[in-house]
Amino acid sequence: MTSVSTADKSKPYVPLASGAGDGWSTEDEATATCYCGAVQLKFPIHGPGLVETFMCNCTDCRKITASMFASNFVIADTHLVHLRGRENLTTYSQSHTIGTGNSMTNYFCTTCGTLMYRVSSGFLGHSVLRIGTVDDFSLHQTKLKPRVEQFVKDRVGWLHGAEGVVQVQGHNFGPNAV
Ligand SMILES: [Zn+2]
Ligand SMILES: [Zn+2]
Repeated sequence: MTSVSTADKSKPYVPLASGAGDGWSTEDEATATCYCGAVQLKFPIHGPGLVETFMCNCTDCRKITASMFASNFVIADTHLVHLRGRENLTTYSQSHTIGTGNSMTNYFCTTCGTLMYRVSSGFLGHSVLRIGTVDDFSLHQTKLKPRVEQFVKDRVGWLHGAEGVVQVQGHNFGPNAV
C-alpha cells in the first residue's frame, strides 16, 4: 500500500474505496463492488466477455449518475458472475428518457444505492457496468479505458473530451440506447 505509484498502471491498485475492501484483479478477471460492499461482481477484462468500453454525456446518464457523464463497460451476461449480494439489488426500469423507446433496467444496491449495472431491452444478454465500481483502479486507466466518448453534443461546457478516445456527437453503441 505504501509504495503505490500513480504513474505505474501495470500493477493492480485497490485503494480502500468500499465498505468491503476485498476487491481484486488477475490477468483475466476483476471485481466490481458497491460502495457499502454488500454487492460484488466478477467479470473478464478482455474479449469475448468484455464487449465494449465507453463514456456517455447524454442527459439520461447525467441524471442517473448525478454527475456530468457515465463511464461504462459492457459485459456479456454469460461472463458476468455475482459473487455476492444479488438478492440485495433493487431494480428500477423506465423508457421515458430513452430515445429509442427501449426500456432500461437499472440494478442498484439496496443498502448504499450504487448503480452496479444497466440492462437495455434492446440489447438483452448484456449488462452495462460502471468503471467507477471496479476495485482495481489501475484498470480504469488501462484495460477499461473508454474506447468511445458518445453524446459529445450533450457534454457540459466546462469539460473537454477524453484523451485518446473516439469522439461521437450522438449515439454510438447499442446497450446505452438513448
Ligand atoms: Zn452497497
Ligand atoms: Zn448516456
